[in-house]
Amino acid sequence: MTRKRVYQIAKELGVSSKELIEKLAEMGMAGLKAANTVDDEEYTLIVNLYREETTPPVKEEEEKEEQHSAIKMVKEGVPRPPIVSVLGHIDHGKTTLLDAIRHSHLAAKETGGITQGVAAYQADLHGEKITFIDTPGHKAFTGMRARGAKATDIAILVVAADDGIMAQTVEAIDHIRAAEIPMIVAINKIDKANADVDKTMNDLVQHGLTPEDWGGETITVAISALAKEKIEDLLEMILLVAEMEDLRADPHGELEAIIIESHLSKGRGPVATAVVRNGTLREKDCIVVGSTYGRVKALLNETGERAGKAGPGQSVEVLGLQAVPQVGTQITVKKTQNEAKACAEKLRVEEAAPQRSRAKMTVEDLFRQARAEEKLKLILKATSTGALEAARREIEALTVGEIEVDFIHTGVGAISEGDILLAASIPGDPLVVGFGVKANAKATKLAEHEGVATHTYAIIYDIVDEIERALKQMLAPVYQEVRIGEAEVRDLFKVPGGIVAGCYVAEGRVVRPGKVRVLRRDEEVFSGDIASLHRFTDDVREVQVERECGIRIRDFDDVQVGDRLVVFTLEEVAR
Ligand code: GDP
Repeated sequence: MTRKRVYQIAKELGVSSKELIEKLAEMGMAGLKAANTVDDEEYTLIVNLYREETTPPVKEEEEKEEQHSAIKMVKEGVPRPPIVSVLGHIDHGKTTLLDAIRHSHLAAKETGGITQGVAAYQADLHGEKITFIDTPGHKAFTGMRARGAKATDIAILVVAADDGIMAQTVEAIDHIRAAEIPMIVAINKIDKANADVDKTMNDLVQHGLTPEDWGGETITVAISALAKEKIEDLLEMILLVAEMEDLRADPHGELEAIIIESHLSKGRGPVATAVVRNGTLREKDCIVVGSTYGRVKALLNETGERAGKAGPGQSVEVLGLQAVPQVGTQITVKKTQNEAKACAEKLRVEEAAPQRSRAKMTVEDLFRQARAEEKLKLILKATSTGALEAARREIEALTVGEIEVDFIHTGVGAISEGDILLAASIPGDPLVVGFGVKANAKATKLAEHEGVATHTYAIIYDIVDEIERALKQMLAPVYQEVRIGEAEVRDLFKVPGGIVAGCYVAEGRVVRPGKVRVLRRDEEVFSGDIASLHRFTDDVREVQVERECGIRIRDFDDVQVGDRLVVFTLEEVAR
């Protein structure tokens, strides 16, 4: 008896797995997955069912198909190769796997050897392409996400069958989950005598990743990266998942390209590897990459040859930048080099400012985001598994309103760089909490840089208190600013107990009670309450546009002529 996978049948029928599965579901055969295997009998049934249902007069079908594909081209672009990252515990075989794929399936093989240390390359399976980002590890993966870049479409989780799931495997799983992208588990080292695939599958079940073969949702492929065994099966699965994801791009659309590696080369100056998700990057393009810019001197493919351009799913080395850009930054194309330079410089000034962009979100934004999800996100580290479990139990037992605690990641050991990156990559600022453990030196530095707060507690009840406080805070009313008007300071008057600003209402109105933001040359110097509002000698509650008035600001006497006062009130945001 031969067993076939559903996606293989779809291929035979010349349709996508998605289409076949949907059709079968319509016909009452629901719950099939592309990676499911079926026996001969089921195979015949599927083929017959599908053919029966889908054989209208040929001409009509062709016409429809043509129309359909024309619409698809315009609306959603064309399919593009998936971009894949490899994650997993150290020594489980990430590098060996990437090497194996590179040696046996390199797309650009014919043209000669691959350049050493290349950060990405394209593999080819029967004419279909897959782009691998060759910077294995979850730090690189999440580091990019922390900068807002979504470089990866699919993650490969490598688990060695002799070791099973280890600490960094758990981290990798949490990082992939946080990225909300599909994962394929490569159970590696099956050539080893002590390899235990069943035990590894069991481990996966323990972590909520029940393999498809065991009735779950997780795609697993047992491979040997060293012996180059079953590598094609893995590639096949990647293409399958890519097909289900329906990854599309428009080669003529707006450029979306992300830097995945960068360095300074002695001979070539700043060199950056970019992977293109949409649009096309071309030589001679004037580009901005974060706070640097340049005119693309050359684009080189993975074998070091001039590529001229790079379309969706391709990766290239970019030469011609003025400085080495940060990994995770996006490339934007401008009309002229001057325009590119201006953009980069503007960003450099902004970067020099102390706060990072995430911190520019107001507190209201953050809470609103958390509330919308009704979840408090938490990364919890502890001294031992026992301590971790105890803390987790206590936290889970907390009930404050309807807000849940979402454990993004838990683990044993000090708060690490990976934890900080994970926190920084997730909207809604997760709490990073150590129970009896602190952040290590590197993590502390990174936390400062990324603006992530970490908390360490020695006693379990202190953690519980802190989390309870955070939950309560999420339930407290949230206010949002409503702009009322703007006034210009034209004169200053000394009065007993302070300074009154003689103002002209340039826009809207000024109200009391109300709040003001004091702007001096566009920089905010103070924000607070309006203590009194006068029109001539009268105390008033409101002054309309184009009138003059006197404003005293509570606890602020440093107001100056030329300052602008933005008047606003706070209104409660509905839950
Ligand atoms: P990484 O840290 O995850 O990148 O792991 P490496 O790729 O460096 O592999 C760690 C060790 O495991 C190396 O000695 C590899 O040769 C070995 N290794 C990797 N894959 C396999 C495999 O499929 N079978 C066996 N027997 N050894 C493997």
